[in-house]
Amino acid sequence: MCHARQLQLIQGADVPAALPAAYTPEAARGFQVQRIVLARGSLATAEREAFVRRICAAYPHVPVEERLDLPHNRVELGEPDSVRRIMQGKRTLVFGEIALKSAVYENRHQGGMYPHERFFSVYGYCAYSCAYCYLNATPLAAFSPAVRVYVNLPEIAADIARQSMQAARPIGFYLGKMQDGLALDPLTHYSPALGAFFARHPYARQIIQTKAADVRALLNAEHGGHTAIAWTLTPEPIARRYEPTAPPTEERLAAMARCAQAGYPVGANLAPLILEDNWEDLYFDLIRTLLDRVAVRRIYLGGMYLKRLSRRFFNEQTSSWRGAADGQNGDWCRTHGGRVLSYRQGYGRAFFRRIHEYVQRRYRCRFEYGDVNGGSLVVRFSHGQGYRLFPDCPEGGYDSAAT
Ligand code: SF4
Repeated sequence: MCHARQLQLIQGADVPAALPAAYTPEAARGFQVQRIVLARGSLATAEREAFVRRICAAYPHVPVEERLDLPHNRVELGEPDSVRRIMQGKRTLVFGEIALKSAVYENRHQGGMYPHERFFSVYGYCAYSCAYCYLNATPLAAFSPAVRVYVNLPEIAADIARQSMQAARPIGFYLGKMQDGLALDPLTHYSPALGAFFARHPYARQIIQTKAADVRALLNAEHGGHTAIAWTLTPEPIARRYEPTAPPTEERLAAMARCAQAGYPVGANLAPLILEDNWEDLYFDLIRTLLDRVAVRRIYLGGMYLKRLSRRFFNEQTSSWRGAADGQNGDWCRTHGGRVLSYRQGYGRAFFRRIHEYVQRRYRCRFEYGDVNGGSLVVRFSHGQGYRLFPDCPEGGYDSAAT
């Protein structure tokens, strides 16, 4: 079959033809919406308008502004201070249309954080307020850090289909590098629509990265083994301080177990490792708990990336340099070119060795050491299915996420 014909079939038969409609939107946990803005493209069709209005109805007391002349990334937040603007943005919900070149792309910068990985965005920015979020180092946070829902989902899926057919081999697309991939799912129900699309596509594979715990829509969704989900996990005493609005670690673990039981390949990102007191024991205990409860396919452990505004945000949120940077507690923590953990200087090696020995004793697994974000360790588990998230897809050297 010629390529053009294949593409036509993929786009015609398998790309979600419409926005989700057969569900009742629910307010997303951890998202305190105070303002809703309908930006350019959000009401451009009757289908989009119905989708957007039904979500607005989940916040009956929140004012809705129609700014149909305005691109989604030009919404003014009326706050001159950049850190307070970020917090204002996390209370602002914007509906809009994202340009496809920004929505689905490959990182072609070899020196960048995730070279040659492909990402896609059906959301922009994030309602959670993790102190270390690297999105706060991006222009997005500097200009218009509102939480976006992009309503051109069918067009985004069609572009993923096009790129996958061009690749002509199984290929992974991350949702969660520039947002949390699942936090707004109770509002949008995008996960079942995307799950069905990826399930039916011969080449496209999805990797969702998240801290969310509401997986109800996912559990009933078609996935065909083509959607993997990776949760960021942090020991609860540390999470309370650095991830105050994200679901508790225990709830994330429960969500992971349920999704693994539903057949999703599941991974864990223990990143960033935050060097609070007793951090080695806290993270080690978390890994033991995780492995007792969830059949994870891989665990990524890695460092932190803070620069510019993200560092200022971090300092204001935590009121301390502790565990992060070259401040008052610099005796046990160093920076390296703006990257914060001290693995390069030997600080984490004993911890990695301890993880290595423990996991190797109990599981069939492979270890990969890397130099991403100041040092990283990836443990890939076999479970009798090889060492990949997807048996046929060589994706994924870089698991760390915004989320
Ligand atoms: S780190 Fe992830 S979950 Fe936390 S605010 Fe950033 S994007 Fe959201």
